[in-house]
Amino acid sequence: MEKKELNIVWLKRDIRIQDHIPFHSANESSLPFIALYCFEPTLISQPDISERHLRFVYQSLSEIRDSLAKHNIPVVICWEDAETVFRWFLHEFRVNHVFSHEESGTQITWDRDKRVKQLLYHNGVSWTEYQQNGVIRGIKNRDGWDKAWFTTMSDPIIKNQYKYQQDIGISNPFEISHDQKNQLSGQSKEFQPGGEKKAWAYLESFTKERGFNYHKYISKPSESRTSCGRISPYLAWGNISIKQAYQHIKNHPNYSTNKRAFSGITTRLKWHCHFIQKFEVECSYETICVNRGYESLDYSNNPQLLEAWKTGNTGFPLVDACMRCLIHTGWINFRMRAMLVSVLCHHFDHSWKNGAHYLASLFLDYEPGIHYPQFQMQAGTTGINTIRMYNPVKQSKDHDPAGEFIKKWVSELRDIPAEFIHEPWLMTSLEQELYRLRIGKDYPEPVVDLAEAGKKARAKIWGHRRNEKVQEEKQRILKTQTRSQSSNKT
Ligand SMILES: Cc1cc2nc3c(=O)[nH]c(=O)nc-3n(C[C@H](O)[C@H](O)[C@H](O)COP(=O)(O)OP(=O)(O)OC[C@H]3O[C@@H](n4cnc5c(N)ncnc54)[C@H](O)[C@@H]3O)c2cc1C
Repeated sequence: MEKKELNIVWLKRDIRIQDHIPFHSANESSLPFIALYCFEPTLISQPDISERHLRFVYQSLSEIRDSLAKHNIPVVICWEDAETVFRWFLHEFRVNHVFSHEESGTQITWDRDKRVKQLLYHNGVSWTEYQQNGVIRGIKNRDGWDKAWFTTMSDPIIKNQYKYQQDIGISNPFEISHDQKNQLSGQSKEFQPGGEKKAWAYLESFTKERGFNYHKYISKPSESRTSCGRISPYLAWGNISIKQAYQHIKNHPNYSTNKRAFSGITTRLKWHCHFIQKFEVECSYETICVNRGYESLDYSNNPQLLEAWKTGNTGFPLVDACMRCLIHTGWINFRMRAMLVSVLCHHFDHSWKNGAHYLASLFLDYEPGIHYPQFQMQAGTTGINTIRMYNPVKQSKDHDPAGEFIKKWVSELRDIPAEFIHEPWLMTSLEQELYRLRIGKDYPEPVVDLAEAGKKARAKIWGHRRNEKVQEEKQRILKTQTRSQSSNKT
């Protein structure tokens, strides 16, 4: 029997059906098409990926599947590595064309893409990869990048239309099991749910009222939970495009009366692409220092300190509150993320490599292109950015003065008055008895002497900036990775 001919839209970090050029191209063709998503065991088993990510993706796919079902377009969801899935399609069908967005992922995804490209090429199948947001493939430096970004952002939004299709008849051998489906479709109220509808709900509630105090509360661990955009998981997994978010905010009637807040978030949409562009050029940032000169720096890497950090038991209330909140909800704001990294790499003297995958697995919005360059910036291993060391007690006093956030996440400290909430170890024995909290028993003693650890770390990291290799690398990075007016502090 003659094989049926079809096209494939390969979904990766672009799980939406609007402003989607691969879907647009497939719909223009006279051939029927399917949408394909692969939960790839080889990728899933990596330490940066966790179940919360898979759940978000599955929720997003379920919404697409329901929408496209009205047009008789199958959404084929596989639990198998992409290469194997494509091999099967090539065996069963006459695959004419594959459409996708470019992915600026970790090395393992580049290697996978290379293998798939070879496979498709040898079978005479064209694969068109379209630019993802404002990230440009194949550039050698940042000349003209800013201008190109604004041009892309002002392009019209693609209003995808879908024709009703003839039946293709696919019996998917890689269907995810009943148990896996149950696990992935389970909802937790603590996490933001995936999908295009939810993405728009968050974006619209931001411009309608949540975002008016964006700039005022951006660093506050409690208030930022509602005043920030909270669109990061939707952008990371592609439930909305950067262009959709940018144009929605920029053209909103509330923009003119909330310029400071709204321009604050549109600036960050540009940073989103700016960081991914760095990673697109050098995805080794997942495993190697941005500035190779920092590879020779030694750390004590004490395993007890790492464990205390990972579980939120360091004895520093704001650090513990942030980590516990992150474990339970998948989100904390920029400053709190930066503080967690700073404490691990500076005060606890750990290599950034010991914490980067762990935080990636906890962030619901894990986006390799932002995560690794940001992590390294905070760890001080880029050699081109100012080194910022966040003192967790100062951050606590400045941004959670009444200890509201701390008390929510560190229940042991619920009954401690505000004067001790930032440094509970300063309580006398009598006060500990009075507030029924024994330091070292009910809540840990601080795991390091903050002042001493900070002093040592400053000397070490600033001292290493003079290293010859660091200086040499700095010039290379400045040439390839920086824009003229790069700014990315919050
Ligand atoms: C160590 C570390 C790791 C990080 N890892 C990630 C990550 O994996 N994924 C991720 O999306 N962000 C990451 N960030 C950046 C930032 O913390 C989050 O984007 C932000 O907190 C998301 O919340 P929001 O959507 O409410 O952001 P908003 O403040 O409302 O900003 C809107 C969007 O702009 C982008 N954005 C905001 N801040 C930054 C920034 N500093 N750099 C680049 N883009 C930014 C994001 O896409 C964000 O969704 C990281 C920051 C640090 C310090």
